[in-house]
Amino acid sequence: MASSATVAIAEDDPAIRELLLHHLEREGFAPLPITDGLAALRAARNVADLLLLDIGLPGLDGFEVLRTLRREGRAIPVVVVTARAEEIDRVIGLEMGADDYVCKPFSPRELVARIKALLRRSSRGAVRALEETPVRRFGRLEVDEAAREARVDSRTVALKPREFDLLLELVAHEGIALTRERLIERVWGADFDGDERTIDVHVRRLRAKLEEEAGLAPSLQTVRGYGYRFRGALPAT
Ligand code: CA
Repeated sequence: MASSATVAIAEDDPAIRELLLHHLEREGFAPLPITDGLAALRAARNVADLLLLDIGLPGLDGFEVLRTLRREGRAIPVVVVTARAEEIDRVIGLEMGADDYVCKPFSPRELVARIKALLRRSSRGAVRALEETPVRRFGRLEVDEAAREARVDSRTVALKPREFDLLLELVAHEGIALTRERLIERVWGADFDGDERTIDVHVRRLRAKLEEEAGLAPSLQTVRGYGYRFRGALPAT
């Protein structure tokens, strides 16, 4: 159960904010109190697993926050907390995209139950999305993104995390030459603090594990003066 989920509480009324904070903490959540609409947007984009959203907020109001999140395609569950019964129709309308709502005054216990239900649903959704990630098969080689595992003849090849990321990036672009710069950007990103030979070292290790140890036909090709290409593993000979 996602009991340590980060729940952003966007509420400018200090008494209600404190009340929510207290109940969520007691239930083992990591509540994040927020007092204006812009901060709510930032929290929903970056850290929160669920957003409790007051409609009457300074800066951006709750409607604008919700509309912006959905326009950006963010699926974070949002529970609207509102004092105005006439807003409910707009809130639950498909146009706004709230997942649930409560009216003030509300029962904290009921709100917590709804939060738990929404988090269960959204974590199931995340698991499903991973399960739907296909296992890529190239002859005797399988690259299983969901399990983060490479297998040769169904036997796991012990790869370090970066080696797996590098292999995944290459097999995801089968037959296409990728520059070292691009591989660095995709596999290391901002963490990178080596030089381009780091890539060469990792490719060498991948070759050793896949080809020398697991007996796979050579499939990671050097493209001189450019980078590397996965050409697809050949069938066993
Ligand atoms: Ca308010």
